[in-house]
Amino acid sequence: MYQITSSLKALKRVFFVRSTGRTLSLCPCCQGNLRVIGSRKRMWIRSSGEKSILIIRRLCCKACRQIHHELPSFLVPYRRHEAQVIEDTVMDEETPAGVEESTLRRWRQWFHSFGPYVAGCLESIAHRFPEIVGSSSAHPQTVLQRIGRFVTSERGWLARAVHRLVNLHLWVHTRSAF
Ligand SMILES: [Zn+2]
Repeated sequence: MYQITSSLKALKRVFFVRSTGRTLSLCPCCQGNLRVIGSRKRMWIRSSGEKSILIIRRLCCKACRQIHHELPSFLVPYRRHEAQVIEDTVMDEETPAGVEESTLRRWRQWFHSFGPYVAGCLESIAHRFPEIVGSSSAHPQTVLQRIGRFVTSERGWLARAVHRLVNLHLWVHTRSAF
């Protein structure tokens, strides 16, 4: 949904984030039209530890005045590490380079308490918007299985789940969870 446009400043590893398509996407709250009101910088840290700066657009809904950020799907709101790094940590699959043990512990704790919320949101989205959330008839048990029903459990599930919630503006209430 988003593409990263490397800028002339690419040597400094600065990237601009732009929605693909010619028009801005619609407001996730009310489907109103969005206009660009500015931009902000976001740090982006990959599993290699490589850091880049993303320039993310601030968008304002002309109808409900809500502010949105054009966050690429590989980032989690309010986190600098990309979603895959956090997912790998939560899954105990890979220890990312250069991340302090206390941060890794915080991510695991976060998922322990926040994972059920994500699963609950996806389940409630499935009721409200059955056309955009897939689900299977399996009987899920773990939090990951519950999330996997809607975004599959293949690698990348955290980014997919986050993006669903962000698009429907369900993430804003969770800032304290971090
Ligand atoms: Zn709106």
